[in-house]
Parts: sequence; structure tokens; C-alpha cells
Amino acid sequence: MKSHARVVVIGGGVTGCSILYHLAKAGWRDLVLLERSELTSGSTWHAAGGTGALAGSANMSTLHKYSFELYPKLEEETGQSCGFHPVGRIALARTEARVDELKILKSKAQRVGLAPVFLSNAEAMELSPILDMSGVRAALFDAASGHVDPSGVTQAFAAGARQHGAEILRQCPVLESNPRTDGSWEVVTGQGTVIAEHVVNAAGLWAREVAALAGVYLPLMPVEHHYFVTENIPLLEELGREVPMTGDADAEFYMRQEGKGLLLGAYEDTCTHWSQQGTPADFGHELLPDDLDRIERNLAQAVESVPVLGSAGIKRVVNGPMIFSPDLNPLIGPHPGLKNYWCACGVMTAFSQAGAVGMLLSNWMTQGDPGLDVFMWDVTRYGPWAGKSYTRARTADMYSTRFKTIYPYEDRAAGRPVKTTPIYEVQKAKGAVFGANYGLEYPLWYAGDGVQAADNFTFRRPNWFEHVGEECRALRAGVGLLEVSTYGKFRVSGPNAERWLDYVLANAVPRETGRVVLSPMLNARARLVGDFTVSRLGDEEFFLVGSGAMERFHLRWWEQWLPADGVSVESLTPRWVGFNIAGPAARTLLARLTDTDVTAEAFPFLRARRMEVGPVRETVVLRLSFTGELGYEMFFPPEYQRPLLAAMEAAGEDLGLRLVGSRALGSLRIEKSFPSWGAELSPDYSPFDADLERFVKLDKPDFVGRDAALRLKQQEPTYRLTAFEVDAADADAWGGEPLICDGEYVGYVSSAAYGHCTGKSLALGYLKNDFARAPGDLSVELVGEPRAVHILAEAAVDPKGQRMRS
Ligand SMILES: Cc1cc2nc3c(=O)[nH]c(=O)nc-3n(C[C@H](O)[C@H](O)[C@H](O)COP(=O)(O)OP(=O)(O)OC[C@H]3O[C@@H](n4cnc5c(N)ncnc54)[C@H](O)[C@@H]3O)c2cc1C
Repeated sequence: MKSHARVVVIGGGVTGCSILYHLAKAGWRDLVLLERSELTSGSTWHAAGGTGALAGSANMSTLHKYSFELYPKLEEETGQSCGFHPVGRIALARTEARVDELKILKSKAQRVGLAPVFLSNAEAMELSPILDMSGVRAALFDAASGHVDPSGVTQAFAAGARQHGAEILRQCPVLESNPRTDGSWEVVTGQGTVIAEHVVNAAGLWAREVAALAGVYLPLMPVEHHYFVTENIPLLEELGREVPMTGDADAEFYMRQEGKGLLLGAYEDTCTHWSQQGTPADFGHELLPDDLDRIERNLAQAVESVPVLGSAGIKRVVNGPMIFSPDLNPLIGPHPGLKNYWCACGVMTAFSQAGAVGMLLSNWMTQGDPGLDVFMWDVTRYGPWAGKSYTRARTADMYSTRFKTIYPYEDRAAGRPVKTTPIYEVQKAKGAVFGANYGLEYPLWYAGDGVQAADNFTFRRPNWFEHVGEECRALRAGVGLLEVSTYGKFRVSGPNAERWLDYVLANAVPRETGRVVLSPMLNARARLVGDFTVSRLGDEEFFLVGSGAMERFHLRWWEQWLPADGVSVESLTPRWVGFNIAGPAARTLLARLTDTDVTAEAFPFLRARRMEVGPVRETVVLRLSFTGELGYEMFFPPEYQRPLLAAMEAAGEDLGLRLVGSRALGSLRIEKSFPSWGAELSPDYSPFDADLERFVKLDKPDFVGRDAALRLKQQEPTYRLTAFEVDAADADAWGGEPLICDGEYVGYVSSAAYGHCTGKSLALGYLKNDFARAPGDLSVELVGEPRAVHILAEAAVDPKGQRMRS
């Protein structure tokens, strides 16, 4: 065994082999993959091999599509068959909600160049004569689906990697991984020790154990999953061609042809976890005992859709373990707190995702960034709060609802609450309906007296519509109080804090104590990796507020320039809570609770003050506005939160103080055309696309992303952030919907809301630049119905920003 390697990939399943292949193709040398047993000996060998491009979000579809389109190229390049059968898939809908879901999926597919089509019953049966279409309301055919041979794919990645010089050692278990002071790793194996510049954990079923060797925990839990293969079916023998795959989400099964028989797998109602305390080191090429009774209900429903299943003998049953993250998406990227340690774990639909995971990790390792916004797969989306009980509850729920319709705004209850603020019970008693952000519960809206405090999910206007409307109107008329404890909060201090922040952020940090600026943070390609309000609280002290969900992402990002002399970065995200009071009466309310002069002259817009507010001796108060109204955000330790809420309520009673949830904030900020992190702002966009150019100080001598920003400034952006009004009826846009002009795709909605104070259905989105210059008649499909869209030249509310500056 060699003594040094640039990269050691741990795990020879499909994921590890894909990473090795992509790194080798990218030109990296001295690559070694270590496999404890034989290639494919985790979950990979017994997978059903289903693959498909179509997914819920555009970036996910892009990544699945990459994996799907790679198979024929890989076969050609390596001469190793992947057993690629791109037979397409027919998705059946038996309920109105499911028909709506398919319409939305079809419409969104345009954004990534996919074109699924609705089939008539006769067309569906012609393509797949084994189907019984009674009770089926719609059938969507998606050509970018099929199946592969799991071992063939893994061997093809391995062959491709070897062709480019990578080495694979089998029967070589990794026993230890020890960090060295220079950032490299000592990897101890059954065959000797190798010093690696980078380590990749692609240990699939054993990812938890391999992570523990590096001293870290990953929120993963294995589950059992069943499929079976039937004996030959005469109808298929006669047909002489392969039928498309079938998905019947209402019956929660998936099915494809295997030889002249059928393969049927199911996500049953009750998830069975496996080896919760850890995957046994000696678990080999093994299956788990059959328990077909578990999928009896699914099977009975499958027989209704595909009657020939009822008389087919069962040839082979597979019950195997696979490992899930709490949201079923992979956990990838550099692990925070560890140098040169990469995760590629929890890849649960590897035959749609492993190709993309390999490509992303290779980009990330060789170029410093994955190339697109992959936060939905980033290991940093979970923090230490995602413990075993949360992971167990979420994975069970996600398994048993794998094919359930997911509605806009749906935030499932399983495993929650994990973290609450001190006023959670008070809010609950006042009718709050909660969501969770990075584990922390926060109010979405408040149900009034006699109103059921629960979301009723739908693709159309939901049960909270009017209540959110009342909150919006109350805030714009008087004053609203929102919980903003979920925001990311950081204190950056020390003699070199100013210089350090000026380097990592794109704007110039405030030179004067008490000033606040908004600043994007860029990567080397000048794409957005953060968006902060930066307040100077002292000569050597700054307070940053950003996205709470990105707390760990941002801390990891800054690790590149830390530790730094004379700079301390401390996250206050889990330690401080926050309120936002906003509305024309917000100043009066604040003034009643503090002796500090908060008049417009003494405390103007974009300023920060430390002050005593009610029972809180020292509160950091920022004069900001995300609602478009006069507003203040205040941050302080949690033990004061309940008394401060009580003080606010008492002082604000005659001002019409109203508790307001985040759904109202969503509507209010869209009325102001304010972009939001994760929707309009993400690593998919540059500040020029997102209209943030004024916050990028290109004349600063140096900052991360400056060179690329200077280059981008010379070019026309491909897309431009634009505000729209939609002629909606009973459904508003949500985000992700393509914008169409004369049948052509010209952009997409990034987020949307009904503007309750303007009576307009509003949206923000990105329009192709060519189109923005010469616009035509725009439309968007809302639940399958085309609706006219009008470009707004300015924000629907207070376009000059007078109210927030008042
Ligand atoms: C019944 C069933 C059906 C499925 N059907 C599908 C499907 O149709 N489509 C789909 O996309 N997915 C399917 N899956 C999921 C699929 O199997 C997984 O997504 C995939 O196998 C994950 O691959 P991996 O490489 O990440 O992990 P694994 O396959 O688990 O590979 C991890 C590898 O790491 C090695 N390893 C572990 N520890 C060490 C160590 N210490 N040192 C060295 N090596 C180590 C292991 O031996 C193993 O080879 C199915 C799963 C099951 C159980």
C-alpha cells in the first residue's frame, strides 16, 4: 500500500466509486479508494437500480438529470455496461390532489429542459399493456427515467477511475482516521497506514461509524426496505419489449420490468429501522429476513393497477438496509470543524444521485465550490440539534410518507419540537402555528379565537390566508411583533475585526460605531454565499445578522480564514433570541420601554444602538426593515424574552400591537420586492443578477470574489431579478414555476405571496435578460392553469422607502 495519497475515498459503493471517477477525470492524481470488503458490498449490491431525472426542485432535477445522462457516456468511455434501460416512467394519479401534483411537476420540469407528457388512458395502456387504468385520473409519462444494474454502474465508475490512474484497494477496512497538524490525515487500515491530504467518507451504511473515527456525528439512521421480483409473466413474454416503469404514489409502490417478470418495491406505512445503535462491522453481503406482510397493503393496491401481479409467482425477495438522513437527502461537503474531511453520506437514491454527488464533490475539492446551490444536500444544514431521536422520528416519517403529496409550505411535525424559545408556550396559548428553522420552532401565523391552530395544506389558497392577511394589515396600520430568534447572529471582535470583515465581505464595513450596512458575501466565482446586516457596535466589535439556517454553513465558510490574529468570531445564533417590532407605531412602542432617545434624529434608519429595553438591561437594537415599515430588530439573551414580551404587550395594547408570524413577513417583504436568502439569494446568483450591485464595493483593494466580480460587471447578467403581479384566482405562485412567453421558457418565479395590503398576487423571479429588455406577454402556470403575469416597475408598497426611513 502506498504511504501517501492526495485523496483517500473510504467506501467502494456506487457513491465512493463515482467520487473517485470524477476526481480522476478532473485530473487529480494519487487517488486511492479503500473498500473494507468487495466493491458494492454495502447497500449498493441489492438496490433495485431505479433512476430518474424529475425531482421537486430545479437544482435537484438538474443533478438527477446529470446522473441519468452520464450512464451512456460512462458505458462508452469504459466499455463496462451499466445495464442502462431508459424506458421512461408512467406516474398514475388517483386523486384530484395527485393530479394537481403531476400538473405542477410537469410545469416545473420545463425549467430544467425536461418534457413529461400527460397520456390518455389508451395511450398509457398502449405503452404499458399490463396497466389497469380504472380509477386512474391522470397518467404522466416522463422519458428521463429508467433503471440500471447497480453493480455494473459501480464497476463502470471504478473502471473509469482506474483508466485515469486511480487505485482501488479491496479487503482494506479503514480502522482509524487521525487528523495531523498540517491538515492531512493519517488513515490506518487493515493493510497499513496511508497519509492523505483529503479524506472522503463515502461509507454508506457505515458512514456513522466512519465519521466517529474522525470524532464527528452524522444524523443518519438505517431502515429496512423491501422489493420482490416475480417469475416470468406471459403478457410480458408475448410483448417482446420492455414496458415503462410505473409509479403509483397513492398506492406507494414503484415497479419496473426485470427480465420477463416485474420488480415491485414499496414504502410501507410503518418504517422499520435497522441497527439503530450502529451498523455491525461484520455485516457483509447479506439480506435481512423477508417480511412481505409489511407491504401487504401496497401489494394489494399494486394488483389493482397491474392485475398480472396477482397471479405471478414470486422468484426473489430482497429486504435490505439503506441509510437515511432526516430529510432523505444526501449529506455532502466539507465537514465543519475538520480540515480536508469530506462527506458523501446518506445517498439514498444513489442511482439518481451518485453521479451528481461525484461531480459536486470533485468540483468542490478541485475548484473550491460545488458550482451551484446545493444547500439542500449540504452536511451543514443539520447542526448538533439533529440528534438520534430527531433523526429516528424524521427518517421513519419520511420513509412512510415517501410518496405522499408534499404541499407548498408543508413542514412536517415528526420529531419536533427539538428546540423552542422561552415564549413557545405563550405563543402556543395565543394560537401560534409553528414551523422549524434549523431545529428552532417559530410562529408561522396565529389562529384567532375559535380558529383551529393547524395548517390545512393545499395547492390552492390555504386556511391561514385570511389570518395572515389580518396580521399584515395590523402591522402596516399599527405595530406588529415578530419572533426573529431564528436569525443567524454573530459577534466578530478584536483589533483586526474590521480588516478581516472587509476581506470576507463584499461591502465596506461601517467605519463609525452605531452604523449598519447590508453586505453580500461572495465566493471566488462572485456568487452569493451570504447576505448580512453588519452593525458596528464598538471600535473592535461588529454584530452580523444573516440566515439562521445557514449558521453552520457560514461558520464553515469562515474557517478558511480562521484562526486569524486579532479576530474572534462567535456565533450567538443558539444563545440569543430576537424580536422585530415593525409598523408606524413601532417607535412609540420602543420609546415607552426605553430611556434612550429613539427619535428619528437620534436613532435613524440603518443604525444600531445598545440600550435598555423594558426588563432587558442591554439589548442590541438595529433600525432595519424587512417589512417596508418603520422597524427595529432587537437581540438579547433568552432569559429576558418572556418578561420583554409581557412588557411589550402591556405597552403596546393601545397601539394595536399584534403578534405576527413569518408568513405575514413573507407577504410584506414581497410587497416591498425585498429578496430573501434561499429564494432570490443563493450561490446560484451573483450580486449583479440579484440587484445587489450597490452593496459591492469594487473599489476596496481586496476581498473574496473581487476579481470575479470585476469580470462579471463587464458582462450582461443572464437573468435579472424582477418583481411581478400575477392574475391569480384561487391559487398563488409559490416558487419554482416557469415564466412563459409565446410558449418559450423565459424565466422562473423564485418566491411569491399574496400581498394582503395591496390586494395583489405578487411574485419575485428571474427573467432572462434578453426578455427583460424586450418583454412580451408573460404567463405562469398555477396548478395547471395559465395565468397572466405583469412586470412591476417598482415595489407594490412604498417604492421610495419613505416609511421605513421615517
Ligand atoms: C432494497 C433496496 C432497494 C433500493 N433500490 C434503489 C433504487 O431502485 N434506486 C436507487 O437509486 N437506490 C436504491 N436503493 C438505495 C441504494 O442502494 C443506495 O442509495 C446506495 O447503495 C448507496 O450507495 P453508497 O455507495 O453511498 O453506500 P454503500 O453501498 O453502503 O457503500 C458503502 C461502502 O463503504 C464500505 N465501507 C464501509 N465502512 C468502511 C470502512 N471502514 N473501510 C472501508 N470501506 C468501508 C462498505 O463496505 C461499502 O461497500 C435501494 C436500497 C435498498 C436497500
